[in-house]
Amino acid sequence: MAPSPTITLHPAASPAPLADNGKRFHIWTIGCQMNEADSAKIAAMLQEVGYRSTDDEEEADIVVLNSCVVRQAAEDKVAGKLNALIGLKRRRPEMPVVLTGCMVTRQQEVLGKRFPHVDLFFDPSDFDQLQRVVPELAALDDDLGQLPHYYLPAAAAESSVTAFVPIIYGCNFLCSYCIVPYRRGRERSRPLAEIVREVATLVDRGVREVTLLGQTVNAYGHDLPERSSLAALLRAVDAVPGLERLRFLTSHPKYMSDEIIETMAELPSVCEHMNLPVQAGDDQVLRRMRRTYTREDWKDRIAFTRSRMPSATIATDVIVGFPGETDEQFRQTLALLAEVECDKVHLAMYSPRPGTLSARWPDDVPHIEKQRRHRELETLQEQVCTRMNERRLGTTVEVLVEGKAKGRWTGRTRGNTLVHFDDGRNVLGKLIDVQITETSPWFLLGDPAGVPR
Ligand code: SAM
Ligand code: SF4
Repeated sequence: MAPSPTITLHPAASPAPLADNGKRFHIWTIGCQMNEADSAKIAAMLQEVGYRSTDDEEEADIVVLNSCVVRQAAEDKVAGKLNALIGLKRRRPEMPVVLTGCMVTRQQEVLGKRFPHVDLFFDPSDFDQLQRVVPELAALDDDLGQLPHYYLPAAAAESSVTAFVPIIYGCNFLCSYCIVPYRRGRERSRPLAEIVREVATLVDRGVREVTLLGQTVNAYGHDLPERSSLAALLRAVDAVPGLERLRFLTSHPKYMSDEIIETMAELPSVCEHMNLPVQAGDDQVLRRMRRTYTREDWKDRIAFTRSRMPSATIATDVIVGFPGETDEQFRQTLALLAEVECDKVHLAMYSPRPGTLSARWPDDVPHIEKQRRHRELETLQEQVCTRMNERRLGTTVEVLVEGKAKGRWTGRTRGNTLVHFDDGRNVLGKLIDVQITETSPWFLLGDPAGVPR
């Protein structure tokens, strides 16, 4: 799951909102795609009872902040945003301010003391709580489960080219640095038929690419009464007529079975792209991180993936400066990434999270050293991406066009590489072949070749 927190204003998500009741909601979201999905669900609930979305919190009748605390920097941004709302709340005391997401703990009195202007703190899995400040939602009780779990990213909201669909909530691992299991609870898979129905609805609305979401997306299904698996779900979703592309993130190396990889290779809609966080390249560090696999295990999964899908692209997550990480251990990570050559590396400097196991250990890699390791990996990755993209020069790639950026059409390959190109036609939402004429480490430029489909 994309680890670097981003801030977005959430687009309206409900396909057929009810009559406008004149009230407005403002939702502010930070963090991973799971938070985006939860915000979409909250937006859908509020739209269902007649609220409409506004980008301007000054004109809102309710403000909802969806928080992330995976790293201190994200938590600081949430605290800053909450404090910035004090003035508005003073002027309009009747307007509820709501906080949800991973900042909300069971000890809500502590949060209440720190942010007394917040009317409601609610656990992200307990949407019913919102009724306490929006009583109209009581009428929705029976229908709440019917509301969509998916979200359409802001850039694609109008065109509905791509969508994200959560399939499993929570996490059963206890990585020593990670706050997620404490805030999101144990793994809970959604029923397979419900997910397939949701994807079919999205495709009916014009969506061509769906990304299935979970903190451990490849653990999908083990907790369902009828027992299922990601491989079975991929088959069922691949069979939805009209779906062009299917992705999933984030996978845990422990659950990345041969069966899943072989199913990916076999199914036409499943993109040759894998998001498989390694976190560190040194076995001792991995053990202290409680990751449950070794460097060789991770390499083996990548090698198997490439043996079945030679064009597969790989994304990974890495933490630098974990407690006790020596320079030598860091060099193992550097060597691993130089050897394996991932297409994308989400880099993070270790940030102790109160309540986690590693927060009890000295945070002994100085900040300046964490920055140095971060920069060194960034430089390596830039070189890797430069080389990889240069190899794409002159090739023709299939692009799904998601929108326009700086006057140019922009989209992604099946491997998730960004491509920009000029085209006088309206090719939004189309699949188009693009011949690559220029490359950079982060994107490709090209000319359209062939008929948009
Ligand atoms: N479930 C995924 C996995 O197993 O890798 C990742 C989920 S986590 C919310 C997203 C990313 O945030 C992680 O891959 C990790 O790199 C980063 N992260 C989590 N806790 C962190 C911490 N305490 N300090 C720095 N980065 C952290
Ligand atoms: Fe956090 Fe580990 Fe679970 Fe990923 S697998 S969400 S890093 S505890």
